[in-house]
Amino acid sequence: MSASSSQIISVVTGGAGFLGSHLTDRLLAEGHKVIAIDNLITGNVANIEHLAGNKNYKFISQDVTEYLFLPGKVDYVWHFASPASPIDYLRIPIPTLKVGSLGTHNALGLAKNKGAAFLLASTSECYGDPLIHPQKEDYWGNVNPIGPRGVYDEAKRFAEAITMAYHRFHGMNNHIVRIFNTYGPRMRLNDGRVVPAFIGQALSGEPLTIFGDGKQTRSFCFVSDLIDGIFRLMMSDYHEPVNIGNPREMTIREFADQILRITGAKTSIEHKPLPVDDPKVRQPDIGLARKLLGWEPKVDFDEGIKATIEYFRDKVGVA
Ligand code: UDP
Repeated sequence: MSASSSQIISVVTGGAGFLGSHLTDRLLAEGHKVIAIDNLITGNVANIEHLAGNKNYKFISQDVTEYLFLPGKVDYVWHFASPASPIDYLRIPIPTLKVGSLGTHNALGLAKNKGAAFLLASTSECYGDPLIHPQKEDYWGNVNPIGPRGVYDEAKRFAEAITMAYHRFHGMNNHIVRIFNTYGPRMRLNDGRVVPAFIGQALSGEPLTIFGDGKQTRSFCFVSDLIDGIFRLMMSDYHEPVNIGNPREMTIREFADQILRITGAKTSIEHKPLPVDDPKVRQPDIGLARKLLGWEPKVDFDEGIKATIEYFRDKVGVA
């Protein structure tokens, strides 16, 4: 990859993941050159194989918890590297802690060294099992630091703290997005999250596994809407956390019924134990994103879910 000084260079950590690969596509469409860094611990080369041979794209296979060195200029660092599914961070708790802490430190160091703007992919998990509903950015959260989810939640909370410290102390142009549940093509069929789980089960005729009584709520945002909000946030001059997500809230039971309706599957529902510290409610207040970024989600639930089902249709049985 060669670049003249006028070309915008973006670095995307976690570039082979679900969100990192969609962000990469958006940045390439905006005319950026993209350097993606990923150790493929949860990322997938299938998400980026359409970029092979693209002269504006370079992939580096590296763990971002190790020192990041890149020659040349960098304009934007988008820090997306992290396991993001509850079963992943239970399986690999220490890499989850390390990428949120040491990985964020390295990504900030790279951005500082290059004079680049920086965006942290943070999470609604910073609110834990929230006592305020819907969640607004000024809510400090209700997180169990030593529970099994603490490895993700606290790593992201540390990541927010260090991102703010680098902004305040070094004057860096940093941004923090708190991402709520997002779905779409390129999620891993077996990543354990409710969207691929229910779609995979419905398409293969297996019972849908509802954890607990299914009264817990989530609010699902289609990936293209999320990426648009994130792009706008990086281009803004706002430096504190901003929620990006879709406020359409539903219970997990209702979500299961919607998947059965849209797929036409005739399968049953099976209840399984609720994971420890599973948040009872989650819904973003997106007033700040509306006001600051002129952003709100556009893709309606049926449209987004149908596109996701189409993506999973030929993956079922081969994953
Ligand atoms: N869930 C479920 N069945 C599954 C997977 C998840 O009922 O097969 C529930 C889970 O307990 C949680 C919600 O769906 O209440 C969303 O879980 P997910 O793993 O997608 O992400 P979370 O929002 O908890 O980070």
